[in-house]
Amino acid sequence: MRRQRLVSLPSRSRLRSTSLALGLLAFAAVLSGGAPAARAASKLHVIATVGDLGAIAREVLGNAGEVVVLAKPTQDPHFVDARPNLILDLNRADALVSMGLDYEVGWLPVLVKGSRNGKIQNGSAGSIVASTMVPLREVPQQRVDRSMGDIHPGGNPHFTLDPRNGARIARGLAERFGNLAPDNRALYAQNADAFVNRLDAKTKEWDQRLASRRGTAVVSYHKSFTYLEDWLGLVEVGTIEPKPGIPPNAAHVAELVNEMRTRKAAAILQERWYPSSVAESIAGQTGARLVLIPGMTPDHGSYVDHIEEIVRALEAAIPARAGAGK
Ligand SMILES: [Zn+2]
Repeated sequence: MRRQRLVSLPSRSRLRSTSLALGLLAFAAVLSGGAPAARAASKLHVIATVGDLGAIAREVLGNAGEVVVLAKPTQDPHFVDARPNLILDLNRADALVSMGLDYEVGWLPVLVKGSRNGKIQNGSAGSIVASTMVPLREVPQQRVDRSMGDIHPGGNPHFTLDPRNGARIARGLAERFGNLAPDNRALYAQNADAFVNRLDAKTKEWDQRLASRRGTAVVSYHKSFTYLEDWLGLVEVGTIEPKPGIPPNAAHVAELVNEMRTRKAAAILQERWYPSSVAESIAGQTGARLVLIPGMTPDHGSYVDHIEEIVRALEAAIPARAGAGK
């Protein structure tokens, strides 16, 4: 076979090695299958930083791709342990889906660099940032330095807690995955449509179930629930952390307890990965209910089930307000 002979030829000149490289490329193209039918079966290897993005990516890819999630669902995505074995996952990825806004800045860049995978470096087609697909909240007007302690320097990154953003991300991923695997473009769009239809129907149902809680005053541990509160019409009257990423102190907590009494805060929302002792103490002093919320979709769980679990927790903890919503 001609190509095999070409591969085994000794090359001395630059010209010779160029033609050798071209020959190898052609050979590789034959091996990987040039026919459209073969390419249509190609699967994208996708890495997602967190569970919500992994679950949405899985819906969009269907059978035409596979997803690995880097952060465990019990880990605060702001502070994931950058274990070297995560580099192996990144090394063979076609795409990396991250939240952006510096949510993963403490651990992801070192892993991406270590992966030596050109497909997922910043600015590559396979580097997909979900925060570019949604309307952002709390974008600072002036530059915020992480050294000042605030870990939301580019705006609030907790946008997947609003299911309407889940739908936007599904559409965005279909587009970006379609660019990477054009033969699957129609399939990804179709999968995204089916997912968004299901999610939209559930979102209407969730709206109705929580309509009587609109206007309820709540407090959160971390500034995690801005998008959730916007969606459901809950009114945040304070946070237990004085600033995103800064642990609570006694003076701030005392002020917060006063504010909660004045504003009649009914609930404290907190992701399960934060310590709950301070929130329990505040709940004891104010009578507000502590609602522990799963922060991210669990491994191989569904995003719809994840939001359903949050809605159920809110229904159970927050009393309906007479005359509210409906
Ligand atoms: Zn945060």
